[in-house]
Amino acid sequence: MKPTSAPRTYRVKSFGCQMNVYDGERMAEMLGERGITPAPEGEEADLVVLNTCHIRERAAEKVYSDIGRLVKAGTKAGKTPLIAVAGCVAQAEGDEIMARAPAVSMVVGPQAYHRLPAMIDRAVQGERNTDTDMPAIAKFAALPERRRSAPAAFLTVQEGCDKFCTYCVVPYTRGAEISRPYADLTLEARKLVDAGAREITLLGQNVSAWSGEDERGHKVGLAGLIRALAQVDGLARIRYTTSHPADMDDDLIAAHGEIDKLMPYLHLPVQSGSDRVLKAMNRSHSADSYLRLLERFRAARPDLALSGDFIVGFPGETEAEFAETLALVDAVGYAQAYSFKYSSRPGTPAATMADQVGMEVMDERLQRLQAAINRDQHAFNRASEGRDCEVLVERKGKLPGQWLGKSPWLQSVWFEGECAIGDLVRVHLAEAGPNSLRGLVRETVAA
Ligand code: SAM
Ligand code: SF4
Repeated sequence: MKPTSAPRTYRVKSFGCQMNVYDGERMAEMLGERGITPAPEGEEADLVVLNTCHIRERAAEKVYSDIGRLVKAGTKAGKTPLIAVAGCVAQAEGDEIMARAPAVSMVVGPQAYHRLPAMIDRAVQGERNTDTDMPAIAKFAALPERRRSAPAAFLTVQEGCDKFCTYCVVPYTRGAEISRPYADLTLEARKLVDAGAREITLLGQNVSAWSGEDERGHKVGLAGLIRALAQVDGLARIRYTTSHPADMDDDLIAAHGEIDKLMPYLHLPVQSGSDRVLKAMNRSHSADSYLRLLERFRAARPDLALSGDFIVGFPGETEAEFAETLALVDAVGYAQAYSFKYSSRPGTPAATMADQVGMEVMDERLQRLQAAINRDQHAFNRASEGRDCEVLVERKGKLPGQWLGKSPWLQSVWFEGECAIGDLVRVHLAEAGPNSLRGLVRETVAA
């Protein structure tokens, strides 16, 4: 590649999960420290970071169509930006990207992005470079301090996965489970609050597997970390995602009944309602053990809103097994849930299993599942009508004077009234739609 001038503006585009959103923010902060500024809306950037997702095939393909778009726009403008591919596609397919997309000058894995500034220096000299090492903890220590935050912030506390579900690439792209140290997390949480956060969502591929040592050297799990963060002045709300049923302990269940700042919401993926499918997926729970676990959470926090993840069309899934998934949805009554068609991922055990399910069957099952989930979501929203609750104001709505925020149960609420981004307002939930609620502001709640 030809040497080029140092980039002055950047754009980071994150795909996929909230952990990628967090990584994208941290990369943007690093670029900011180097004096590179965000490209103004509507203008091409000198440096584009595509922070990719590899979880399903379609997510992975998006990166190539984005590169194509950037090259086309660059040719038209007479200057192609420096392109860095980051995230899980970079980790899994780094060499292939370099071979297939000559316009890409940097490939950086999710555990190595703290070294992006040095990679940019080499790219400016015309050198294409790849870094897919996995020194996870070193990454966090090398990132700049938190100086800016939205009212609802993310904080990655745990990365990687040792569960090896047979369909999933995460253990290969994000590596083994690691927990960030307790002291680093309490410090980063304080910095986020100083920078404007009122709500923090603790993130991890298996956030409930987090463990560490508190300031007295005692071993603590996620509940211990949440208890410590609940002491942070100015922090009003704590959430966490994504959990695995195998790691949910008594302390975490009790925390939901005891800590006011811990929001009444639990995202607990189940994937299927069929025990045979769950076993083939290498999930360690059964449909029944999952339901019993939810009962214990609901006993601790009766108004808990539940969410989950589902995969339809896992290899060998029969109509009767899919019906068991629908029955589980009926039994739980989710406030919201995510559902996906099974996507065969190269290198995972499920990719070579017999009886791969056809696309038409998957499409049809997904439609039925989503109809059931939407029905329950709307019912949950309707059951909230007439209630008063606190809403964290996150942004302006589409119309003048309109605001958008989240209820404690993570419902989107829109309303008009006197308030500002970052306020906690007491709102009357007046009218429920399938995806959001209309509220009426009662008062602003003091910090
Ligand atoms: N660790 C969490 C758990 O197992 O409970 C989930 C994290 S995973 C990044 C997010 C979701 O993507 C999974 O819960 C699953 O529903 C979905 N997913 C993962 N691999 C998939 C695949 N090969 N095809 C379709 N969906 C997939
Ligand atoms: Fe993937 Fe979650 Fe299973 Fe880990 S526990 S392998 S992240 S689906």
